[in-house]
Amino acid sequence: MATNKVIVIKLGTSVLTAGGALLNKPRLVELASQCVELRAAGWQVILVSSGAVAAGRAALDEEIGNSIAEKQMLAAIGQGQLIHLWQSLFSIFDVSVAQLLLTRADVEDRSRYLNARDTLTQLLRHDVVPIINENDAVATSEIKVGDNDNLSAMVAILANADRLLLLTDQSGLFTADPRQNPDARLIETVGEINEQIIALAGGTGTSLGTGGMATKLQAAQIAQRAGIETVIAKGSEPNVIANIQSGLAKSTKFIRFDAPLDGRKKWLLSGPRCSGSLFCDEGAISAVCSQGASLLAKGITDLSGQFKRGDLIELRSPEGKVIAKGLVAFDSQELQKIKGLHSADISDALGYQGANVVIHRDDLVLLEHIAT
Ligand code: GLU
Repeated sequence: MATNKVIVIKLGTSVLTAGGALLNKPRLVELASQCVELRAAGWQVILVSSGAVAAGRAALDEEIGNSIAEKQMLAAIGQGQLIHLWQSLFSIFDVSVAQLLLTRADVEDRSRYLNARDTLTQLLRHDVVPIINENDAVATSEIKVGDNDNLSAMVAILANADRLLLLTDQSGLFTADPRQNPDARLIETVGEINEQIIALAGGTGTSLGTGGMATKLQAAQIAQRAGIETVIAKGSEPNVIANIQSGLAKSTKFIRFDAPLDGRKKWLLSGPRCSGSLFCDEGAISAVCSQGASLLAKGITDLSGQFKRGDLIELRSPEGKVIAKGLVAFDSQELQKIKGLHSADISDALGYQGANVVIHRDDLVLLEHIAT
């Protein structure tokens, strides 16, 4: 019988190919069997499976380059192979699977987001394992999430998941690159993902030892703020999924924040990209962060970007740190005229009556871990 505990498991290409060029079937059998065991223990499992491009490359008996069009072709070929393989492996255990191919556009628009959420809910209700990937064959860079770590955090929010597992070729986050530094220590638990933690991951496209950790931290940060625990562990470790669940696996766990967010705020956190920034004074930051206030024009010192009313924008502290995200009630041209003004002076400055606040509290999600 299904329970409401939902787990999203992201399997990176390096896990699915066991470091080689082809999908490693014994590895996939092993992972499918672990997922089946987890289901038997009362979890509803959602997979975010990479490997489409790798499978496509392996399927063609010729050298294929790395242009966008070539990779899109490989994804189109490989995605079919990938889902076919998962389907045949799960069918050994009498488990049905479903394919869901998403892009950022599917979560940016609120009605598409709710639609995708309904599909996931129905699949889980019918005990089917959703297997998700980015729709790489057609997604242009503007609408791409770009990596399956961030995609899996979005999926975890969509599915209202309790846990997110990121299975990769490393046991977790280390104090230094373990391949270069023998003293590197695995960090077992991370609270807030602050700048020091982010610095440990290095930038994107770093050496083998830390490559991919930056997007994993982004995913863990999104999940953490939405109240979802994330664990990073090594996918090649025998029984890794059960061992994570029982706390035996070598891993890094990112604790979740307690403050539960309503569905709309979770959506704000997961999907839409920000079209601009509002720089706020200390008073406004403290009112928004500690007093649960809406953002008023008076507290805005400057802005950047071109945006329309209803767009998602960032709130930045005087030092430029992103503190919150919210849906703005004025467009950027209007805000240029009213920044710094008292609410009573706004209609004079604009020549018409605008909204009372620049971002209403209900349209705002805090990114700092500050008690509200
Ligand atoms: N969607 C890509 C694939 O299936 C993988 C992207 C990623 O691993 O971040 O090949």
